[in-house]
Amino acid sequence: MQPSGCRIERETSEIVTTDTLLEKPATIAVLRAGIVSRTTTATALAESYFARIDEHNPLVNAYLSLTREEALDQAGQIDAMAARGDELPALAGIPMGVKDVLAMRGTTATAGSRILEGYRPPYDATAVQRLRAAGAVLLGKLNCDEFAMGSSNENSAYGPVRNPVDTERVPGGSSGGSAAAVAANLAVATLGTDTGGSIRQPASFCGVVGVLPTYGRVSRYGLIAFASSLDRVGPFTANVVDAAAVLSVLAGHDAHDATSSRQPVGDYAAELNKSVTGLRIGIPDEYFAEGLDPEVRAAIEAGIDALRDAGCEIKRISLKHTQYAIPVYYLVATAEASANLARFDGVRFGHRSKSATNLSSMYRLSRDEGFGAEVKRRILLGTYALSAGYYDAYYKKAQQVRRILAEEFMTAFGEVDAIVTPTAPTAAFRLGEKTDDPLAMYLADIYTVTASLAGICGLSVPCGATSTGLPVGMQILGPHFGEGTVFRVAAAVERTLAVADGAEAE
Ligand code: GLN
Repeated sequence: MQPSGCRIERETSEIVTTDTLLEKPATIAVLRAGIVSRTTTATALAESYFARIDEHNPLVNAYLSLTREEALDQAGQIDAMAARGDELPALAGIPMGVKDVLAMRGTTATAGSRILEGYRPPYDATAVQRLRAAGAVLLGKLNCDEFAMGSSNENSAYGPVRNPVDTERVPGGSSGGSAAAVAANLAVATLGTDTGGSIRQPASFCGVVGVLPTYGRVSRYGLIAFASSLDRVGPFTANVVDAAAVLSVLAGHDAHDATSSRQPVGDYAAELNKSVTGLRIGIPDEYFAEGLDPEVRAAIEAGIDALRDAGCEIKRISLKHTQYAIPVYYLVATAEASANLARFDGVRFGHRSKSATNLSSMYRLSRDEGFGAEVKRRILLGTYALSAGYYDAYYKKAQQVRRILAEEFMTAFGEVDAIVTPTAPTAAFRLGEKTDDPLAMYLADIYTVTASLAGICGLSVPCGATSTGLPVGMQILGPHFGEGTVFRVAAAVERTLAVADGAEAE
């Protein structure tokens, strides 16, 4: 299915974008200060975002649904507080969007799937509830790959998202709508989810910041599960300081999620201004090997040089088991998905087949009509890996190798404070380029699935571009609950790039 509205056909290989599509939002602090001082209002801000969405969403297809009335209502409440001179919360009046795999009261949650078309959860996910409590103005729900399975957003039942940097290219996946919305300034910040790279890789493709918090740092309550031991919720923003601000709101213990951590939340904003002098940065050989696009390599190496100039100690390290991460991930993730998706049976949620004649055919037909090809492929793979006779050879073995991968990271973090790699082996690829080759698509996750399996934190920060102007993302990984250090390194990368951009402009 194509996105509704204008579809532009082009033959040229040049980057295609409209003048106003790419736009960087002001920072959260600046916008909030304007609302506090009443030089602007949350209502005017929300209206300006809805106007941009009306103009650009028909092409970009980032939003699947809008919550205009509720958003303007929330904005009005913020303005009333500002008028009374009340203390405003951290994200007061900030226009945000939410990936459509998270429950948000008052609207649908499709998970990008036909099977959940029209499903309206009666409650907020904890992450969504925390944004609301912090005064954010929630504009709507964002497109994604079906059940967050994919690397290009082309598995959505509601049409692909287009990358605002070049609308003939994918935005990455599975949180493609969340990344594209920030890149096109259709939201100041968004929520995404990352199971094997779905925040970091689209952030890299769209030239924005995307954060993978440590497993357990942000509650998964109200997230439609893909692979529960890997799923994480995290923010997309246009810059590092905003990412720290949004994560500060999201992070923290939640009694609704048994895997949520009681570890105190650090002061992320305070980390950003700390010097990186003396920080030890590990560069793993395995992430700079065969398959890495030379232009991506050059951009990341320039970023590493900048960190060295800023006073970091750069150390080569080796993560020897990296080559096993893709097979391990695609066994663990599909096994968990096959169990999690068993609940979509035509009875409790969403689509029920009209052609069914008895109970068994209702189950079969509802699932056959409701799920797309990639979801079916993964349910088959996962069910196979979990079945008697194969469980030990595949699932159990994968869990054992997962432990080795995690321990390898722990050993590395004994020697270095953070690890730096490319986020993805290439910049954004063309729409349709990999849709016929699931294995090639799976390889887009080669640098991101390792951190997912190990439960550690990380992010992707823009780090230069290819010669044709496609964004390149640098992945910065930290140990469990090491978000502060990761933000500190990311802020340093961002600063050096801003200096480089300034020099170019002169
Ligand atoms: N692209 C990976 C997959 O298809 C990761 C998805 C994700 O992180 N949700 O499984």
